[in-house]
Amino acid sequence: MKEALSKPIIIAGPCAAESTEQINASIQQINKRNIQIMRASLVKPRTKHGWDGIGLEEGIPMLKRIKNAGIIPATEVLDIDEAKQIVDGVLGNEDGKMMLWAGSRNQNHRFQRDLGSLAAHDSRLIIGAKNQPWRSEDHMRGIISHIADAGGADRENILFIMRGYSELNDQGFRNVPDYEAALQIKKDEGVNVLLDPSHIGGTRDKVIKVAKEGLTLARNGVIFDGAMIEVHPNIEDAKTDQKQQLTWKEYDEYILPIFEKGEELSSNAAD
Ligand code: PEP
Ligand code: MN
Repeated sequence: MKEALSKPIIIAGPCAAESTEQINASIQQINKRNIQIMRASLVKPRTKHGWDGIGLEEGIPMLKRIKNAGIIPATEVLDIDEAKQIVDGVLGNEDGKMMLWAGSRNQNHRFQRDLGSLAAHDSRLIIGAKNQPWRSEDHMRGIISHIADAGGADRENILFIMRGYSELNDQGFRNVPDYEAALQIKKDEGVNVLLDPSHIGGTRDKVIKVAKEGLTLARNGVIFDGAMIEVHPNIEDAKTDQKQQLTWKEYDEYILPIFEKGEELSSNAAD
């Protein structure tokens, strides 16, 4: 069982859980690599009305499959009742860890506090939070404060995820990254800060570009603690975010070498 989180923290896997076959194929790929956490969302907030996830009844056994394969399952949650239901269904009274995260569209501070409180009372939980879609460093610090100060979660168990701001830009990105604010927050707030190149880039070529530029960046000796990245075992079948999910071949070719440079990066992170 790959238990304690080691750096870089890599969360890879499909945008959404879609079928048992897709989850099994993803588990197989993850277990061939040094990846501790697998993402697979059961509920999908969508920009436009459409398929919005497999749901809890079918999805919880899929997350349990991931856990039973020795991988930490990670999934987005929309409210605290759903979060509790998923933890009960996936972990029950067993040992093991899981990650729940609040998505970018979900900026309810009471929910952030409740998630923090859930983690404060259950050391098996890792709490993730994406940044909000609009530009504000203050708001991002607020998210962390709600989870940690109000909710009581240990900052070491919080993964703050930079997924960019929804702004027009001439690079063709889906969302515009704010590396400077993310790395400053990591330095000041004592939480882990990850980069989400998938939702920043929006298309496979740009996801790779963002991963390279963001994950090799150092500011005042600070670098990203890792990344959340969407990888699908069978791209043609992807029901969400099809254009931005990488194949495992692309992951090996373009993303793995960046992480393999991780140690080198940490020791050079002094500019
Ligand atoms: C996701 O991670 O699939 C997702 C919906 O991300 P975001 O909340 O950053 O848009
Ligand atoms: Mn997605």
